[in-house]
Amino acid sequence: MTTHTKHIFGTIETGGTKTKCGLGLYDQKKKTMPKILDQVQFPTTTPDETMGRIIDYFSRKQTALENSPTAKKYQASEMSAIGVACFGPLNPNPESRTFGYITTTPKPHWENYNFVGALKQKFRIPIGWDTDVNAPALAESLWGCAQGVDPVLYITVGTGLGGGAVVNGRPVHGLLHPEMGHILVRNHQHDGFKGCCPYHDYCLEGMASGTSLKQRWGHTVTEFEPGHVAWEIEAYYLAQGLQSYIMTLSPKKIMLGGGVMQQEQLFPLVREQLKDLLNGYLQVPEFELAESMEDYICPPELGDDAGLYGGLALAAQAYNS
Ligand code: ZN
Repeated sequence: MTTHTKHIFGTIETGGTKTKCGLGLYDQKKKTMPKILDQVQFPTTTPDETMGRIIDYFSRKQTALENSPTAKKYQASEMSAIGVACFGPLNPNPESRTFGYITTTPKPHWENYNFVGALKQKFRIPIGWDTDVNAPALAESLWGCAQGVDPVLYITVGTGLGGGAVVNGRPVHGLLHPEMGHILVRNHQHDGFKGCCPYHDYCLEGMASGTSLKQRWGHTVTEFEPGHVAWEIEAYYLAQGLQSYIMTLSPKKIMLGGGVMQQEQLFPLVREQLKDLLNGYLQVPEFELAESMEDYICPPELGDDAGLYGGLALAAQAYNS
């Protein structure tokens, strides 16, 4: 039994278009933010090719660690666990026969892919596994802007739209995991679009993702004028989503990230429309002042590396469980 408290963890963030891998140094005793020691990025292509590159990366790093004087100094000359933040839907239930699988994704070749199984064949260490939204929600609650706050919600509005939640310090799982992008919304009076989701008309992802903006208006999120009506319509849908999440989960903080939310003018519009929708029903300080609402609905703090930190948080959880 080793007594050192510093560990090297591997982290993987697999998104629909790119995959990132990295190593982080984490002090289990102090529990402060891990230090990302190294990271690489490559396109997410077929499962075989992508997994090949992931395994190659960690195998090379593992060999380097075994020979590294710096790693020896930290008494951490091996990877202790790997955490994976992956696009979904996926199966996070360890009791299930298909635990570790990506399930029904429309992404070619990835349907029913045993991601964790492929990693486990090569690395006989604990593997943490969760969605690319639950993982950053966990990282933000441990080391980002939601420290000490529970429950918290992390919504990403990019090519797709998804949400992760941490309740009592753990990402929420159930049947599978929440699919917050697929709740229904009421359409805006000046919007005849029914959505771009192949499964549902008028679901939040179909109405408010970057893909939906492109399909509805014919151009990408960075090409709109700041005063374009698209922003008001976008905020209207996002606010409806937030109203439903607030009423069902009662989160104490909501982080909005992803490519679309880089358009910072959306934040005040979303807060304003949410306030209208709530219509004074919730008498809490969070909705009383503009500043408290800015603190309540805010951008994530870990930025581009939120997924990698998410993987490290999952690795730490897997190592300790
Ligand atoms: Zn949908």
